[in-house]
Amino acid sequence: MVECQLPKLDVVGSNPITRSKKNPSVYASRRIRFFPPNGRREELGPMASGLQVFDIPEDALVVDLHLHSSASDGEYPPRRVMMRAKSAGLSVVSLTDHDTVAGLDEAREEAKRLGLEFVNGIELSSVHGGRLVHILGHFFRPEDPELGAQMKKYMENRRTRMGEMLERLLTLGVPIDKDDFLREYSRASSIGRGHLSAYMVRKNLVSNREEIFGKYLGEGGPAYVELEMITPDEVVKLITGAGGAATLAHPNLSESDEIIPGLVLAGLAGIEVEHPSQDAEARRHYHALAEQYGLVPMGGSDCHGARPGPERIGQFRQPVRNFLDLRRRAKAALQGPRRD
Ligand SMILES: [Zn+2]
Ligand SMILES: [Zn+2]
Repeated sequence: MVECQLPKLDVVGSNPITRSKKNPSVYASRRIRFFPPNGRREELGPMASGLQVFDIPEDALVVDLHLHSSASDGEYPPRRVMMRAKSAGLSVVSLTDHDTVAGLDEAREEAKRLGLEFVNGIELSSVHGGRLVHILGHFFRPEDPELGAQMKKYMENRRTRMGEMLERLLTLGVPIDKDDFLREYSRASSIGRGHLSAYMVRKNLVSNREEIFGKYLGEGGPAYVELEMITPDEVVKLITGAGGAATLAHPNLSESDEIIPGLVLAGLAGIEVEHPSQDAEARRHYHALAEQYGLVPMGGSDCHGARPGPERIGQFRQPVRNFLDLRRRAKAALQGPRRD
């Protein structure tokens, strides 16, 4: 786990931050105001446009664009995730639930109330050569019809797959109450193994999550059923087509570096360099790939709450610069041909 030395920054309002044209190390915003670590407001005076200008270091670590809520497999509802982000000292956040945008409205509303800059997010599943590849999407239009159709398909696939996994568990002699489980999660738009493992621990069917994944639900396990998925480059095109920026999530977990050149051609904007699952060597490796392919070296906590733990919100932060770079890439995608 990486401990960050955090500059103490405060933020007010929720307008997007922009970089000053005259001085690129200075950020401007109508309502967001950053204060430097010494607590003094080093206001540099209004720009010609009338915007307030404040001095913010480009490497201010206040951004986490990889967070999960109970809209997918996170522990806390979207509102609570935003409250925790605020108390962890973050200023720019996103909610990136698996294959769903169901939590975005609630999160956005709460972020606005708390004065956090909020970015639309999603973490879409895909498959390459039998390996699971996660792609993060940011800044996209959640109402994009093609994205909506794919999320609906994933939701249906997830329900069918869950039914099969429950059947397999019963066949394996695990006395799980299938109807009770499905009733409890009837509203989950992105039902998955996280829900199932949490339920099984709560009902004392197994002692912990590791046991479930080791014995039953891990990839290749006897109760594991593969989710029917699209390919990573299809996901990248879907996100960019919806006006967003696509980032390859935790690439070391999918061990699929060979797909990166193809994803770049499809419009990939970023790659996660910092992630709890990536050690210093992996980070160096992915940082070098980011430079090689002109990708934004992103990162985030991938916090799902305290479960499976440890609670990581606030421990993996990105500089403001990365947020701005990624947003610029999304804008470039928006200016491309629109499909809708
Ligand atoms: Zn992931
Ligand atoms: Zn994630």
